[in-house]
Amino acid sequence: MSYEHILLAVDLTEESQQVAEKAVILAQQSSSTLSLVHVIEPLSFAYGGDVPMDLSTIQEQLDEHAQQRLTEFAAQQAMPIKQTHVVTGHTESEIHRIAKETDIDLIVVGSHGRHGLSLLLGSTANGVLHGAKCDVLAVRVKG
Ligand code: AMP
Repeated sequence: MSYEHILLAVDLTEESQQVAEKAVILAQQSSSTLSLVHVIEPLSFAYGGDVPMDLSTIQEQLDEHAQQRLTEFAAQQAMPIKQTHVVTGHTESEIHRIAKETDIDLIVVGSHGRHGLSLLLGSTANGVLHGAKCDVLAVRVKG
């Protein structure tokens, strides 16, 4: 199977490297380019109007920090990374948007292989699969 441009969704947790290793192998095998996306959910999603202060400075700091961490993560990979996207919004919708805008033909996400209800409802992998306009690979994360 051959892909041209793979998008790896990175949550910047310790598990990200496990998922990245599979994405890199796949990209190398199919002579594909690889890009990364990290989504920051806005603080206002969590706190809404409940916090009587301006969250924009904290939000900016979070964005800068995430950009720095994603750049470092990209540099650690065993192949060059074409683009690194740090975007703000709803995780699944932003991954879909970036995939569409950058002509992605495979999205790679991590999956915890949960059971029962949380398997059906909880996972980002599940959310990304639904509504994706291209293939989605869920890489089983151990632990
Ligand atoms: P979760 O189901 O939330 O534990 O996440 C599983 C996978 O979804 C991660 O390994 C990532 O591939 C992807 N993911 C979760 N959160 C984010 C995020 N904020 N930005 C990009 N990808 C994410």
